[in-house]
Amino acid sequence: MRVGGASDTGKVREANEDAFWFDDRLLIVADGLGGHVAGEIASSVALECVKQEIAVASPGPDAPLEAIVRDALQKANQSVRQRAIQDGLLGMGTTLTMALIVGGEAVVGHVGDSRAYHARDGRLVQVTEDHSVAAELVKSGGISRSQASEHPYRHYLTRALGTSDAVEVDVYRLTLSPGDALLLCTDGLTDVLSDEEIRRTLAAFADPDRCVARLLELANQRGGPDNITAVLAVVEAN
Ligand code: MN
Repeated sequence: MRVGGASDTGKVREANEDAFWFDDRLLIVADGLGGHVAGEIASSVALECVKQEIAVASPGPDAPLEAIVRDALQKANQSVRQRAIQDGLLGMGTTLTMALIVGGEAVVGHVGDSRAYHARDGRLVQVTEDHSVAAELVKSGGISRSQASEHPYRHYLTRALGTSDAVEVDVYRLTLSPGDALLLCTDGLTDVLSDEEIRRTLAAFADPDRCVARLLELANQRGGPDNITAVLAVVEAN
């Protein structure tokens, strides 16, 4: 498996409140909320907590991966919550989407409106559901997907880490095959690129670093209105 990742402030924001991490088994993106300093703290506190929890669990193929991932995000929620209270930063929180890859299986943990996508044989599937007001309206049939992309509340999150004492964590398990790609990204990418553009870019670049660089470049060409982060794992073809 080859992995790459990068983050860019974009063309409008003064600071980058996104955070990311990748190694040969763990991928993470997080998008901090609550304004400049609070957002940066929230995304980095959550990310470091998840990294540490996974390192301590050191899961092998037979480990209860879903439970480990769920617990890591619950701990991250508590860490960000404690920090917000300690620093008096009300409204501080973060999205976090992660993938733990063990023995050809990927377990995705997710809270917020960052996303995981799974690409296979030229097709792209959004693995995660956005925890946003607009996405909930689409799900309930209230508005269409294209209306959601213009909705005034599209960035209002229904779930985040650190904004309340309890959080519900979504967990998904995927089997990765040779040639598959797993992309984690923040809304700075998906607000300006369609799924079809992401699909084409993943198909065009076999190298994860070059592919991520191209995704960030495209988002900046569209005005780069938000911080942009992408982490990509590609399973080597046989
Ligand atoms: Mn964002």
